[in-house]
Amino acid sequence: MIRREAIRWLMLAPLVACARGAGADDPAGLQRFAFTEPHMGTLFQLVLFAPEPAAAQAAAQAAFARIAELNRSLSDYDPASEVSRLGRAPAGTAVPVSPELLKLLQRSQTLAARSGGAFDVTLGPLVRLWRESRRTGRLPATDARVQARQVSGHALLALDAKASTVTLGRSGMQLDLGGIAKGFAADEALAVLRRHGFSRAMVAASGDLALGDPPWGKAGWTVELAPFGPGSGSPVVLVVANAGVSTSGDTEQHVEIEGVRYSHLIDPATGLGRTESVAVTVIANDATTSDALATTCSLLQPEQIRPLLAAEDTAVRTLVFTRSADGVAQRTLYGRDPSGLVSRP
Ligand code: ADP
Ligand code: MG
Repeated sequence: MIRREAIRWLMLAPLVACARGAGADDPAGLQRFAFTEPHMGTLFQLVLFAPEPAAAQAAAQAAFARIAELNRSLSDYDPASEVSRLGRAPAGTAVPVSPELLKLLQRSQTLAARSGGAFDVTLGPLVRLWRESRRTGRLPATDARVQARQVSGHALLALDAKASTVTLGRSGMQLDLGGIAKGFAADEALAVLRRHGFSRAMVAASGDLALGDPPWGKAGWTVELAPFGPGSGSPVVLVVANAGVSTSGDTEQHVEIEGVRYSHLIDPATGLGRTESVAVTVIANDATTSDALATTCSLLQPEQIRPLLAAEDTAVRTLVFTRSADGVAQRTLYGRDPSGLVSRP
């Protein structure tokens, strides 16, 4: 995750087309403001309703600053980040970590356990090898894959919540929070906008949306999903407020090697990209949850999704899109609607 080189906003547009909202006839006289900045290898867009431009701008600046701060801690691209430094720690040493990193690692370890290791933030070495394969169009060499697997696996990561430390089981491990960090950053940016008094606001980071109170006169933000792009049937329309919506899938990020289509998500069983073509949208109370669960559900078999969602403390709705023979998206629903999901098909 957290690629510097790839700005994927436009490429991802077919996946989660947009979250729309107009603020016409707002009795409080609020106007709509939108701001966009590149962060974490994608574009973050903020939309908020505010009485005047200066206040909106100040809030947006603070929200973008929070995203940049999180990236300095969570990026696996930045060798100076907290995550990268942690990866250089010798095995068996308890390393103090920030509250944010601890929280994300706790959430990730819970998901790793519940998903039988399908979601695993310790797959960093394999993710790196796979990025190289996606670039070169060649499968990783077997010995490189064996080596990477020796320093991967969630059982090698020990957390001490009380002491706020992390201990790696092997030297040479690398954490990759690409499946959860963007949703968390969107939640944190929305929280900043709320603290500035702007609760009618939303944050979009390509496939991850953190949605606050809806625009005046609306029941929610309209989110359009076209899981397999144009020509895959009419878009699926959701109306959502005060919730996170994330989409994960291989539509925009896949590679074909020797006639096989692989996803950018790593199957821990093989150490290679997944070969099933699915797109998954998750609606949850917050975008940290929706992001992590969208990645996880993309990696699971259908029968594994229901128990995973049932283990969550709060209601979560998952839409899994598969492609029928004619290329049209077919959807299957799992879980329960969270209160923020105002309407869905
Ligand atoms: P996107 O990057 O399109 O928003 P996701 O939220 O699904 O998509 O996250 C994909 C990223 O998750 C990958 O780029 C990689 O950094 C990381 N990742 C890949 N495989 C796994 C896995 N099995 N478990 C956890 N994270 C993974
Ligand atoms: Mg994700």
